[in-house]
Amino acid sequence: RKVLILGNGGREHAIGWAFKNAHFEVYFFPGNAGTKLIGENLNISEQEIFNTAVLNDFDLVIPGSEDFLVKGVADGKENVFGPDSAGARLEGSKCFAKLFMEKYNIPTAKFQIAKNKVQLADALKFFSPPYVIKADGLAQGKGVIIEDDFSTALEKGCKLINGSLIPNVSGPVVIDEFLNGWELSAIAIVSGRKFALLPFTRDYKRAFTGNKGPNTGGMGAYGPVEIDERLKEKIKEIFEKTLYGLEKEGIFYKGFLYIGLMVVENEPYVLEYNVRLGDPETEVIVSMEPKRFVENVLKAFSKKDFEEYVPSKYAVDVVVASEGYPENPRKGQKITIGTTDSIESEGSLIFFAGVKEVNGELFVSGGRVIHSVGTDVELKKAREKAYGNINNIHFEGMFYREDIAL
Ligand code: ATP
Repeated sequence: RKVLILGNGGREHAIGWAFKNAHFEVYFFPGNAGTKLIGENLNISEQEIFNTAVLNDFDLVIPGSEDFLVKGVADGKENVFGPDSAGARLEGSKCFAKLFMEKYNIPTAKFQIAKNKVQLADALKFFSPPYVIKADGLAQGKGVIIEDDFSTALEKGCKLINGSLIPNVSGPVVIDEFLNGWELSAIAIVSGRKFALLPFTRDYKRAFTGNKGPNTGGMGAYGPVEIDERLKEKIKEIFEKTLYGLEKEGIFYKGFLYIGLMVVENEPYVLEYNVRLGDPETEVIVSMEPKRFVENVLKAFSKKDFEEYVPSKYAVDVVVASEGYPENPRKGQKITIGTTDSIESEGSLIFFAGVKEVNGELFVSGGRVIHSVGTDVELKKAREKAYGNINNIHFEGMFYREDIAL
C-alpha cells in the first residue's frame, strides 16, 4: 500500500514514520532530508500534485500543510484524507470562519469585519484595548495584530488591508474582542459527522525559555495533557456543532480538524480552525501511539468506525532551531548527528524539518531544524530522553527552549 504525504516539515516526517511502521510504502512531496531516509521524495512540480492521474497512483494521500487543501488538492478526490476547498475555507478565510461560527452558534470572540479604513475605525471603537485585528487569508501565523494603542492599531490594520504590512496578504480583516484566558488546541480525526479527538497536547509558541521572545510556529510540545471532563464535553459540543454546520452548508468534511481555543473561566471559545494537523503537535501525537494513530486514520478514511484512544505513554518534542528564527534564521550550516542509533532508539526519535542533504551531508535549510522527541510512561523520563538526544546534534547557531514540558 502506498501513502503520499504533502509538505516538508517535521510533521510530515512524523506522519510518514508512523505509516512506514505500519508497513506502508511512503512517498513525500516535496519532503525533506529526513523523509528521504524513510521513503521517496517525489521529484515533480507542485502543479502535478493537483493532477488526478498523479494522485491516483496512491492508496492514500495526506496533506500535511493547509495550502494544498485551500488550493483544492482534495476536490473530488476520494483518496485524499482532507477536506475539499469549500471545507478548507474554515482555515483559508477568517471572515468565512467567523460568520460560520455566528450562524451555527459556536462560541467565539465577538467580532466585526472591515474592508477599509472607515469601517476599521468604526469597528475598533466598538471594542476596548488590547485591539485584535486578523488578516482574512493565510498568513503563516503572522496575520494577527494585538495592539493597545488605538491609532497604532488603526494604522497597522490599514496596512494589513492594503497589503503593505505582510507581503502577499491583503483584503478584509476581522476585528476580535480580546479574550483573556489560557490556550488549548483540540485536534480530531473527522469523517462527515463522526469525529474522534486525538490526545490533547500543549505547544510552546514563544521562541525562548521562560515564554520570552517572539511568537514562532512552535518550539516544542508535549502530551497527553489532561483536562477536566466538563471542559472536554464542551469541546466535543463545539466539534459537533461545527460538523453539523458543515453538513448544512453541503460540505462533506474528511481529514483532520484542529480547533484553537481560548478557555475563559473554564468556557472554551474558538480562536481559529485549522484544516490539518498541527506542527509540533503531530510529532507528539504520532510518537505516543503510532499504531493507533494510523489505525484510526485508516478506519476514518474507509468510513469504518473509529474512536478516541488513551495513549499509554507521554511524548515530549523539543525543537532545535537556527539562530535568528523566527524573523531571519541563519541557513547553510553543516549539521552533524551522533550515531544513527540515536536517531531512533528506545523512546528517542528525531524528525527533520529544515534540513537538506547535499552529497550525503546535512545542512540547515529552515528556521526549525530538528525535532527531538522522547517517549516514556513517565513524563519526566520522556523529557529527559528528548533533551538527552539533543546532545547528539550539532550545528552552528543552534538553540532550543529548556522548559518544554517542565
Ligand atoms: P496560527 O495559525 O499561527 O495559530 P493564526 O494567524 O491563524 O495563527 P489565530 O490562531 O487566530 O491566528 O491567532 C494567533 C494568536 O493570537 C492566538 O494563538 C492567540 O494567542 C492570539 N489571539 C487571537 N485571537 C485572540 C483573541 N480574540 N483574544 C486574545 N488573543 C487572541
